[in-house]
Amino acid sequence: MVIDAVPGARHHERVTRKTLLRGGWLVTMVPGSEPVRGDLLIDGDRIAAVGRVDDVAGAEVVDARHRIVLPGLIDSHRHLWQSSLRTIACDWTLGEYFARMRGRYGGLFRAEDIGAGTLLGAVEALDSGITTVVDWSHNLHSPEHADAAWEALRAAGGRAVFAYGATNAQALREDVGPHTRDVARLRNGVAADDGARVTLAMAVRGPEFTSIDNCASDWALARELGVPVTVHVGGGLRGTQGGVAELSRHGLLGADTTYVHCNMLSDVELDLIAAAGGRASVSPEVEANMGHGPPATARLRARGIPTGISADVCTNVGGDLFGAMRVAIALQRGSDHAAALARGETLAAVSMRAREVLELATVDGARAIGLGDRIGTLEVGKQADVLLLRTDLANLSPVGDPIAAVVHAAGPQNVESVYVAGRPVKRDGHLVDVDVPAVIARAQASHDHLVRAENSLA
Ligand SMILES: [Zn+2]
Repeated sequence: MVIDAVPGARHHERVTRKTLLRGGWLVTMVPGSEPVRGDLLIDGDRIAAVGRVDDVAGAEVVDARHRIVLPGLIDSHRHLWQSSLRTIACDWTLGEYFARMRGRYGGLFRAEDIGAGTLLGAVEALDSGITTVVDWSHNLHSPEHADAAWEALRAAGGRAVFAYGATNAQALREDVGPHTRDVARLRNGVAADDGARVTLAMAVRGPEFTSIDNCASDWALARELGVPVTVHVGGGLRGTQGGVAELSRHGLLGADTTYVHCNMLSDVELDLIAAAGGRASVSPEVEANMGHGPPATARLRARGIPTGISADVCTNVGGDLFGAMRVAIALQRGSDHAAALARGETLAAVSMRAREVLELATVDGARAIGLGDRIGTLEVGKQADVLLLRTDLANLSPVGDPIAAVVHAAGPQNVESVYVAGRPVKRDGHLVDVDVPAVIARAQASHDHLVRAENSLA
């Protein structure tokens, strides 16, 4: 039985109960597993079988013989609200970004601009095979802004963690108060269910952007509400000021916290994060372009800190994780080769393998955002967040090593089908249930408003 996408169908309608992906290259990302040819059965919102599966009565059968089947990709930190200002900041340093994105554009965002950008970014992510994104939403002037972001994540159809962040005035330090308690309104309302497709976190300013008193207050609020924390640390020179050590002295480090970037943190600080059971997210492409510092990827992984990858801002880089993975591995290998050459040596083997960078985007990315028990691998019982990549296009054919193919050769054009919690959100190369031209038109109108308003500033 094959059910075609129904134009305009809503998310809860026409869901095929069982889907059997037949004969694909299975890249399960289960530690120790190797890619094998096989089948994957989706039953409801979960993975019901992986490997050799007999015919299942009533299941839709999908021919996956020319597909790589892998877990949906995970972006562990992205500021979706900026998506309608796409590529505006590609030639900006980190300093220019703060002066212009925060100093000029940030305060101009209306609730509808937050909604339009967040929706565009969430749709873009799904289209390129990212089934889960941590929306680091740190331009929320009002409860209406937060509601607009939440509604956009809900409407897009992907899995998301809405990380409720600061206002623009707080980012500029014009407002030096603590995080708004409006986050509690969501926690006690729409975000009460930690098993839902969209869940809640807090994106706090952290020691590099606010006082230690505010840090204590912000972490306390997150722990009162029982939501995870995500925080920028170690980016640029402000990352050398011992902020993580200060958090440690105040007893604030914990296993509920994801440390984003980490480039300039000392070894001692990384050890403190590891000892506290903390996790991390790196954005090597943005970090290299803007000046956060050398990639921390290998230093984090060496300490066993669960580390994810992230696009960060689509104002500066493209939003698909294929590009991000290629940059991440090239930067890490490049810096390790360079260090060896500076010692008068050549490396006998590469310092990071393709599989390791795919772990950032899947199994480790899930652990990095606290969802390792639900997503990140193709395993029986996990949520059916699944990606099918076409291998019958010139760029992925013939398939040698499927993992190397995903990391070093694949692109968004290979993303044929995407499932989130068992529901197809993209099929045959097209998003289901999303009116893409309408999403783009809304983002364009928001973009035009923001650019006009910025031009009229002094
Ligand atoms: Zn960020």
